[in-house]
Amino acid sequence: ANQLEIRDLWVSIEGQPILKGVNLTVPKGEVHALMGPNGAGKSTLGKVIAGDPEYTVEQGEILLDGENILELEPDERARKGLFLAFQYPVEVPGVTIANFLRLALSAHKGGDVSVTEFYSRLQHALETLEWDESVVSRYLNEGFSGGEKKRNEILQLMVLQPKYAILDETDSGLDIDALKIVAKGVNAMRGPEFGALVITHYQRLLNYIVPDVVHVMVDGRVVKSGDKNLALELEQKGYDWIKELAAQS
Ligand code: ADP
Ligand code: MG
Ligand code: MG
Repeated sequence: ANQLEIRDLWVSIEGQPILKGVNLTVPKGEVHALMGPNGAGKSTLGKVIAGDPEYTVEQGEILLDGENILELEPDERARKGLFLAFQYPVEVPGVTIANFLRLALSAHKGGDVSVTEFYSRLQHALETLEWDESVVSRYLNEGFSGGEKKRNEILQLMVLQPKYAILDETDSGLDIDALKIVAKGVNAMRGPEFGALVITHYQRLLNYIVPDVVHVMVDGRVVKSGDKNLALELEQKGYDWIKELAAQS
Protein backbone atom coordinates (compact mmCIF):
# COMPACT_ATOMS: atom_id res chain seq x y z
CA ALA A 1 0.00 0.00 0.00
CA ASN A 2 1.64 3.24 -1.11
CA GLN A 3 0.19 5.53 1.49
CA LEU A 4 0.63 7.11 4.87
CA GLU A 5 -2.11 5.62 6.99
CA ILE A 6 -3.14 6.59 10.50
CA ARG A 7 -5.28 3.89 11.99
CA ASP A 8 -7.37 4.31 15.17
CA LEU A 9 -4.73 6.46 16.84
CA TRP A 10 -5.19 7.29 20.51
CA VAL A 11 -2.64 9.63 22.09
CA SER A 12 -2.35 11.22 25.52
CA ILE A 13 -0.06 13.61 27.30
CA GLU A 14 0.40 13.41 31.07
CA GLY A 15 -2.61 11.09 31.26
CA GLN A 16 -4.80 13.55 29.37
CA PRO A 17 -6.30 12.06 26.18
CA ILE A 18 -5.78 14.28 23.13
CA LEU A 19 -6.22 12.12 20.05
CA LYS A 20 -9.23 9.82 20.38
CA GLY A 21 -9.21 7.40 17.49
CA VAL A 22 -7.82 9.26 14.48
CA ASN A 23 -8.28 7.58 11.11
CA LEU A 24 -6.70 9.30 8.11
CA THR A 25 -5.00 8.10 4.94
CA VAL A 26 -2.85 10.09 2.55
CA PRO A 27 -2.14 8.09 -0.63
CA LYS A 28 1.16 8.79 -2.36
CA GLY A 29 0.55 11.29 -5.13
CA GLU A 30 -2.00 13.33 -3.16
CA VAL A 31 -1.95 16.47 -1.06
CA HIS A 32 -4.40 16.49 1.83
CA ALA A 33 -5.29 19.33 4.18
CA LEU A 34 -6.05 18.88 7.87
CA MET A 35 -8.19 21.65 9.31
CA GLY A 36 -10.06 22.16 12.55
CA PRO A 37 -10.60 24.57 15.43
CA ASN A 38 -7.83 25.51 17.83
CA GLY A 39 -7.03 22.76 20.30
CA ALA A 40 -8.53 19.99 18.12
CA GLY A 41 -5.25 18.04 18.13
CA LYS A 42 -3.87 18.83 14.66
CA SER A 43 -0.36 19.75 15.77
CA THR A 44 -0.34 16.81 18.17
CA LEU A 45 -1.01 14.47 15.25
CA GLY A 46 1.86 16.06 13.29
CA LYS A 47 4.25 15.69 16.21
CA VAL A 48 3.23 12.08 16.88
CA ILE A 49 3.82 11.19 13.22
CA ALA A 50 7.25 12.80 13.59
CA GLY A 51 7.96 10.70 16.68
CA ASP A 52 7.92 13.39 19.38
CA PRO A 53 8.65 11.46 22.62
CA GLU A 54 6.57 13.87 24.71
CA TYR A 55 3.37 12.11 23.66
CA THR A 56 2.16 8.65 24.69
CA VAL A 57 0.58 6.52 22.00
CA GLU A 58 -2.08 4.46 23.77
CA GLN A 59 -3.41 2.60 20.76
CA GLY A 60 -3.35 2.49 16.99
CA GLU A 61 -0.88 2.42 14.15
CA ILE A 62 0.93 4.74 11.78
CA LEU A 63 1.72 2.85 8.59
CA LEU A 64 4.20 4.17 6.04
CA ASP A 65 3.77 2.18 2.86
CA GLY A 66 2.36 -0.64 4.98
CA GLU A 67 5.08 -0.61 7.67
CA ASN A 68 4.20 0.44 11.22
CA ILE A 69 6.68 3.21 12.14
CA LEU A 70 5.53 3.87 15.71
CA GLU A 71 8.49 2.06 17.25
CA LEU A 72 11.02 3.93 15.09
CA GLU A 73 13.09 6.92 16.23
CA PRO A 74 12.51 10.22 14.38
CA ASP A 75 15.72 9.84 12.32
CA GLU A 76 14.73 6.30 11.32
CA ARG A 77 11.36 7.62 10.19
CA ALA A 78 13.19 10.22 8.12
CA ARG A 79 15.28 7.52 6.46
CA LYS A 80 12.04 5.79 5.48
CA GLY A 81 11.15 8.92 3.53
CA LEU A 82 9.14 10.96 5.99
CA PHE A 83 9.82 14.69 6.09
CA LEU A 84 9.88 16.11 9.57
CA ALA A 85 10.03 19.86 9.28
CA PHE A 86 9.78 20.47 13.00
CA GLN A 87 12.84 18.41 13.75
CA TYR A 88 15.26 21.27 13.27
CA PRO A 89 13.57 24.48 14.36
CA VAL A 90 16.64 25.71 16.22
CA GLU A 91 19.62 27.80 15.28
CA VAL A 92 22.65 25.64 14.64
CA PRO A 93 25.76 27.73 15.22
CA GLY A 94 28.51 27.27 12.66
CA VAL A 95 26.42 25.15 10.27
CA THR A 96 25.58 26.78 6.98
CA ILE A 97 22.43 25.97 5.07
CA ALA A 98 24.48 24.20 2.40
CA ASN A 99 26.27 22.03 5.00
CA PHE A 100 23.05 21.31 6.74
CA LEU A 101 21.28 20.25 3.56
CA ARG A 102 24.11 17.87 2.65
CA LEU A 103 24.04 16.37 6.18
CA ALA A 104 20.28 16.06 6.12
CA LEU A 105 20.41 14.43 2.72
CA SER A 106 22.86 11.75 3.83
CA ALA A 107 20.73 11.15 6.95
CA HIS A 108 17.69 10.63 4.75
CA LYS A 109 16.99 7.87 2.29
CA GLY A 110 18.89 9.95 -0.28
CA GLY A 111 22.31 9.05 1.12
CA ASP A 112 23.32 7.91 -2.34
CA VAL A 113 22.46 11.20 -4.03
CA SER A 114 25.42 12.46 -6.08
CA VAL A 115 26.96 15.90 -5.69
CA THR A 116 25.70 16.84 -9.15
CA GLU A 117 22.18 15.76 -8.27
CA PHE A 118 22.40 17.65 -4.96
CA TYR A 119 23.32 20.92 -6.69
CA SER A 120 20.73 20.45 -9.36
CA ARG A 121 18.00 20.02 -6.72
CA LEU A 122 19.35 22.98 -4.76
CA GLN A 123 19.39 25.19 -7.85
CA HIS A 124 15.86 24.25 -8.79
CA ALA A 125 14.63 24.85 -5.23
CA LEU A 126 16.31 28.27 -4.97
CA GLU A 127 14.76 29.34 -8.25
CA THR A 128 11.31 28.13 -7.24
CA LEU A 129 11.54 29.89 -3.88
CA GLU A 130 12.94 33.05 -5.46
CA TRP A 131 15.93 32.92 -3.14
CA ASP A 132 19.39 34.18 -3.96
CA GLU A 133 22.13 31.55 -4.16
CA SER A 134 24.20 33.38 -1.55
CA VAL A 135 21.73 32.32 1.14
CA VAL A 136 23.20 28.82 1.31
CA SER A 137 26.35 30.14 2.97
CA ARG A 138 24.35 31.73 5.78
CA TYR A 139 24.15 29.93 9.12
CA LEU A 140 21.07 27.86 9.72
CA ASN A 141 18.19 29.97 11.07
CA GLU A 142 20.60 32.54 12.53
CA GLY A 143 18.87 35.90 12.31
CA PHE A 144 16.21 34.46 10.02
CA SER A 145 12.82 36.12 9.89
CA GLY A 146 9.69 33.96 10.18
CA GLY A 147 9.34 34.05 6.41
CA GLU A 148 12.98 33.04 5.86
CA LYS A 149 12.68 30.11 8.29
CA LYS A 150 9.64 28.99 6.36
CA ARG A 151 11.50 29.32 3.05
CA ASN A 152 14.36 27.29 4.50
CA GLU A 153 11.96 24.56 5.58
CA ILE A 154 10.57 24.33 2.06
CA LEU A 155 14.11 24.42 0.64
CA GLN A 156 14.86 21.33 2.75
CA LEU A 157 11.71 19.68 1.50
CA MET A 158 12.68 20.27 -2.12
CA VAL A 159 16.27 19.09 -1.71
CA LEU A 160 15.42 16.01 0.36
CA GLN A 161 12.51 14.96 -1.84
CA PRO A 162 10.83 12.77 0.77
CA LYS A 163 8.02 10.36 0.01
CA TYR A 164 5.69 12.03 2.51
CA ALA A 165 5.71 15.40 4.21
CA ILE A 166 3.74 16.71 7.17
CA LEU A 167 3.67 20.50 7.20
CA ASP A 168 2.12 22.28 10.16
CA GLU A 169 1.26 25.79 9.04
CA THR A 170 -1.07 26.52 11.93
CA ASP A 171 0.84 29.18 13.79
CA SER A 172 1.85 31.00 10.68
CA GLY A 173 2.16 34.68 11.38
CA LEU A 174 3.16 34.60 7.75
CA ASP A 175 2.29 37.27 5.25
CA ILE A 176 0.71 36.38 1.96
CA ASP A 177 4.06 36.41 0.10
CA ALA A 178 5.48 33.83 2.49
CA LEU A 179 2.36 31.69 2.09
CA LYS A 180 2.73 31.85 -1.67
CA ILE A 181 6.35 30.70 -1.39
CA VAL A 182 5.33 27.74 0.76
CA ALA A 183 2.67 26.90 -1.80
CA LYS A 184 5.10 27.17 -4.72
CA GLY A 185 7.46 24.69 -3.06
CA VAL A 186 4.73 22.21 -2.16
CA ASN A 187 3.18 22.49 -5.61
CA ALA A 188 6.60 21.93 -7.23
CA MET A 189 6.86 18.70 -5.22
CA ARG A 190 3.48 17.41 -6.35
CA GLY A 191 3.63 14.24 -8.39
CA PRO A 192 3.03 10.48 -8.22
CA GLU A 193 5.96 9.89 -5.82
CA PHE A 194 4.98 12.45 -3.18
CA GLY A 195 2.22 12.71 -0.60
CA ALA A 196 1.63 15.54 1.84
CA LEU A 197 -0.53 16.43 4.80
CA VAL A 198 -0.80 20.20 5.17
CA ILE A 199 -2.10 21.20 8.58
CA THR A 200 -3.71 24.60 8.68
CA HIS A 201 -6.26 26.47 10.74
CA TYR A 202 -7.01 28.94 7.98
CA GLN A 203 -8.47 28.42 4.56
CA ARG A 204 -6.37 31.03 2.76
CA LEU A 205 -3.28 28.80 2.34
CA LEU A 206 -5.54 26.38 0.47
CA ASN A 207 -6.18 29.03 -2.18
CA TYR A 208 -2.57 28.40 -3.22
CA ILE A 209 -2.16 24.74 -2.33
CA VAL A 210 -5.36 23.24 -3.68
CA PRO A 211 -5.84 20.02 -1.70
CA ASP A 212 -7.09 16.76 -3.17
CA VAL A 213 -8.88 16.02 0.10
CA VAL A 214 -9.75 18.12 3.17
CA HIS A 215 -10.09 16.50 6.61
CA VAL A 216 -11.60 18.23 9.60
CA MET A 217 -10.50 17.37 13.12
CA VAL A 218 -12.63 18.17 16.14
CA ASP A 219 -11.81 17.09 19.69
CA GLY A 220 -9.17 14.56 18.71
CA ARG A 221 -10.97 12.85 15.86
CA VAL A 222 -11.37 13.35 12.12
CA VAL A 223 -15.10 14.01 11.91
CA LYS A 224 -15.49 14.91 8.26
CA SER A 225 -13.57 14.62 5.00
CA GLY A 226 -14.39 16.12 1.64
CA ASP A 227 -12.99 17.88 -1.39
CA LYS A 228 -11.56 21.40 -1.52
CA ASN A 229 -15.06 22.89 -1.21
CA LEU A 230 -15.21 21.70 2.38
CA ALA A 231 -12.47 24.23 3.20
CA LEU A 232 -14.51 27.02 1.60
CA GLU A 233 -17.60 25.92 3.52
CA LEU A 234 -15.63 26.08 6.79
CA GLU A 235 -14.37 29.53 5.86
CA GLN A 236 -17.95 30.73 5.35
CA LYS A 237 -19.74 28.91 8.15
CA GLY A 238 -17.03 28.56 10.79
CA TYR A 239 -16.55 25.46 12.90
CA ASP A 240 -19.67 25.48 15.11
CA TRP A 241 -21.83 23.37 12.79
CA ILE A 242 -19.12 20.78 12.51
CA LYS A 243 -18.63 20.71 16.29
CA GLU A 244 -22.36 19.96 16.61
CA LEU A 245 -22.06 17.27 13.99
CA ALA A 246 -19.16 15.77 15.95
CA ALA A 247 -21.10 15.87 19.22
CA GLN A 248 -24.01 13.97 17.63
CA SER A 249 -21.88 11.15 16.26
P1 ADP B 1 -4.33 22.23 17.37
O1 ADP B 1 -3.01 22.14 16.68
O2 ADP B 1 -5.45 21.59 16.66
O3 ADP B 1 -4.65 23.65 17.75
P2 ADP B 1 -2.95 20.89 19.55
O4 ADP B 1 -2.55 19.57 19.03
O5 ADP B 1 -1.92 21.96 19.61
O6 ADP B 1 -4.24 21.40 18.76
O7 ADP B 1 -3.57 20.70 21.01
C1 ADP B 1 -4.61 19.77 21.27
C2 ADP B 1 -4.88 19.73 22.77
O8 ADP B 1 -3.81 19.13 23.44
C3 ADP B 1 -5.06 21.11 23.39
O9 ADP B 1 -6.09 21.04 24.34
C4 ADP B 1 -3.74 21.36 24.05
O10 ADP B 1 -3.88 22.20 25.16
C5 ADP B 1 -3.29 19.97 24.44
N1 ADP B 1 -1.82 19.83 24.42
C6 ADP B 1 -1.05 19.82 23.32
N2 ADP B 1 0.26 19.70 23.63
C7 ADP B 1 0.30 19.65 24.98
C8 ADP B 1 1.35 19.54 25.94
N3 ADP B 1 2.63 19.47 25.56
N4 ADP B 1 1.01 19.51 27.24
C9 ADP B 1 -0.28 19.58 27.64
N5 ADP B 1 -1.32 19.69 26.79
C10 ADP B 1 -1.04 19.73 25.49
MG1 MG C 1 -3.22 25.46 18.33
MG1 MG D 1 -1.66 23.49 16.01
